[in-house]
Amino acid sequence: MNMKSQDKNLVEIQAQWVTVRGRIRQKIGDAQFKSWIKVLVFEDYDDHKVTLSVSSNFIRTRIIEQYLDIIKSYWLVENLKINDIQIVVSKKDSNKDSKKNLESTQKNEAKISNKDQDVFGSISSDLDSRFTFTNFIVGKPNELAFAAARRVSEAKDVPFNPLFLYGGVGLGKTHLMHAIAHEIKKRNPLRRVIYMSAEKFMYHFIKALRFKNTVAFKEQFRNVDVLMIDDVQFISGKDSTQEEFFHTFNALIDQNKQLIISADKSPQDLEGIEERMRSRLGWGLVADIHPLNYELRLGILQAKSEKLTAKISENILEFLAHKITTNVRELEGALNRLSAFSSLIGSEINLDMVQDLLKDLLKSSQKKVNIEEIQKKVSQHFNIKMSDMSSARRSRTVARPRQVAMYLSKNLTSRSLPEIGRRFGNRDHTTVIHAVRKVEELRNKDASFDEDVQLLIRMLES
Ligand code: ADP
Ligand code: MG
Repeated sequence: MNMKSQDKNLVEIQAQWVTVRGRIRQKIGDAQFKSWIKVLVFEDYDDHKVTLSVSSNFIRTRIIEQYLDIIKSYWLVENLKINDIQIVVSKKDSNKDSKKNLESTQKNEAKISNKDQDVFGSISSDLDSRFTFTNFIVGKPNELAFAAARRVSEAKDVPFNPLFLYGGVGLGKTHLMHAIAHEIKKRNPLRRVIYMSAEKFMYHFIKALRFKNTVAFKEQFRNVDVLMIDDVQFISGKDSTQEEFFHTFNALIDQNKQLIISADKSPQDLEGIEERMRSRLGWGLVADIHPLNYELRLGILQAKSEKLTAKISENILEFLAHKITTNVRELEGALNRLSAFSSLIGSEINLDMVQDLLKDLLKSSQKKVNIEEIQKKVSQHFNIKMSDMSSARRSRTVARPRQVAMYLSKNLTSRSLPEIGRRFGNRDHTTVIHAVRKVEELRNKDASFDEDVQLLIRMLES
């Protein structure tokens, strides 16, 4: 990722925020919206974490208690990658409209450069306090990387230099690096540790070039005890930064300072990196994190679900561990979504809901059916007009078939709840949830109704 695509990312997230606000406004009404949601100002998006700000602690507490779950669940509907939403109290006057943020790149730049200054002053602002060794679940795929990370953080000398961690996205490289930094700081607060993404390194370097203070830039790095650069694959290709990185790297190794590097590939496989650099990166210990196996996936889910307020049953965790095989970030995303949904509806999640909520994540082997087809078949079957699928009429004769069609749309297509709601005459996603539950309930109670639904499913799927 380069700076440009990061900016683009930020704009997308801000656009999502506009959508999310719109949905919440519909849900809670104008008055509540004005008091509690409109006051939230978009501040930042970094490492899958959104930061919003408000002007006082009082407002912050109230929003966290009453609205944070709603914000989370609506946002997760828009973007599964969101890991966390933080609400902070801003020091500035917060009366400004968050829309201004979208436009004012100048302000953004000022903010970024404020942040830059403390990157060197203290690293803590850049570290996620949850990324500790205790919170890291160890299994076969990551045991070598974990052991190496522990060793480096406990050692008084430099056991291997550099420590090179690599593995696919979302497998815990950043987590381990932060954990090393926490542990080193805990053991000796005086040791200077700098953790930085390779992108940030480049950004600082280019800025230093522009402001002609590269000497100071170099000094900063040369005075550290431990330097960690995350995702070095992003350094590849940029000649002058690569050169500078290489010099800094060599100087630190010569002074016996600990270096920890991460990348998505092994040193040999890194593209666009000079040969001398590549071989030097492989000098120390190279530890890879393998794709997760079932046991580790389940272990991670169990550990993470214990920390959630919503209770998620063991059989659902097993189901998720079977179905979501990509990486930890997706496992966490799935859990967060389930937990947000569970607190939104105020009851425990069941397996059907899981399939609904995570349709986009779960590989489905069913034949592809679309909402229109469902609406058509269901109207025919119950002998009502197709237009009644989206009409406002509430009489039982049309409402029940409509609910059945919503239920089938949820179960047979990969459409999200809000999307289904929209296709049924712009109804809210909570109406869809209600329909799904109602139909489930009726299928359990009423055998002939259940037969109807089964028949419809068979017709649609064949
Ligand atoms: P990477 O840097 O390799 O892309 P991250 O370190 O950002 O991946 O991990 C993604 C998410 O998964 C983080 O929230 C992290 O805490 C979590 N995670 C990864 N591996 C583990 C693990 N073994 N135990 C617990 N959480 C993990
Ligand atoms: Mg990472």
